[in-house]
Amino acid sequence: PVVLGIESSCDETGAGLVREGRLLGQALASSMDEHARFGGVVPEIAARAHLHALGPVVRAALDDAGLAPEDIGAVAVTTGPGLSGALQVGVAAAKSYAYALDVPLYGVHHLAGHVAADTLEHGPLPDPCVVLVVSGGHTSLVLVRDLVREPIVHLGDTVDDAAGECFDKVARVLGLPYPGGPAIDRAARDGDPRALAFPRPMTGPRTPAAHRYAFSFSGLKTAAARWAERHPGGSVPDAAASLQEAVADVLTRKALDACRAHGVGTLVVVGGVAANSRVRALAEERCAAAGVTLRVPPMRLCTDNGAMIAAVGDLLVRAGAPAVPPGVSIDPSAPLERAALAPGAPAP
Ligand code: ATP
Ligand code: MG
Ligand code: FE
Repeated sequence: PVVLGIESSCDETGAGLVREGRLLGQALASSMDEHARFGGVVPEIAARAHLHALGPVVRAALDDAGLAPEDIGAVAVTTGPGLSGALQVGVAAAKSYAYALDVPLYGVHHLAGHVAADTLEHGPLPDPCVVLVVSGGHTSLVLVRDLVREPIVHLGDTVDDAAGECFDKVARVLGLPYPGGPAIDRAARDGDPRALAFPRPMTGPRTPAAHRYAFSFSGLKTAAARWAERHPGGSVPDAAASLQEAVADVLTRKALDACRAHGVGTLVVVGGVAANSRVRALAEERCAAAGVTLRVPPMRLCTDNGAMIAAVGDLLVRAGAPAVPPGVSIDPSAPLERAALAPGAPAP
């Protein structure tokens, strides 16, 4: 069947249509511009924007695929993690579509969506693979076997800020525009990555074994903020390039260490920060040197979108997973343990 995927966990309203691992069409709306003057996502504004955008975005995805609503055979929706109000809007819409079309509904973990995004471009994931999930709210190294049949094994997570959050916050202190990640990436093009010696948190010889695959980015954020305070006229491109280098170095070093230690031949890098040009380039360089196959989704599938949620829904349908009952609720802080989520739903 054709699976409609709906994403509304943060500031992008996304709809995608997937059948048998193939992306048929998608559409995206963003309330990013409405948040720009506040320097960060305002939950109430995001929820309201989803309410306005959802219907048109679903229709645009259907148009993009050349399909009619009656062609939809299942609906998948992000039930968490994310902003409560934003998630509520997507889940309410998904329930309505599933009810009106009389098709099954699937609850999807947003980060599993980020992982599945890569399958739309590069086909099924090998079993096992190491996945580096780097986004605005999360930074995790996980071991994925079968995304929808097996539990996801956490090797390490950030102990404080996410990598994307670090980019976004440092961009603010450097006076770069919102959103910060892409702005840092652009500014770094004209900078020297060796200009400033930013720390490489949790990589030193005294890093406890338990933190081998853990990350910490708040110290890096503070180091960049200190530098900005002390050097009011300092080179922003140099700071951006040096920060980006530190983040990319730590992320790829730990990811490849995990591949080596677990004897895994494929590294997958997903989430918004996977769009970063230095993260992509350094991952490529280090994977090539280590004989590890690297998979990174195309840019447009790295940041939030509906296609990635449809991709998980499609995998769930084909795995014969149970649909969620109509009373399914959101789970704003769902840990990444399983791709399918059915919080609050009574047992079938
Ligand atoms: P999560 O997926 O953890 O819930 P999110 O959905 O808000 O968070 P994504 O949409 O996956 O996050 O990614 C957005 C993040 O990616 C932001 O922090 C943004 O700054 C960062 N980002 C996007 N493009 C780039 C880039 N080119 N370089 C660095 N960071 C980037
Ligand atoms: Mg976003
Ligand atoms: Fe995301």
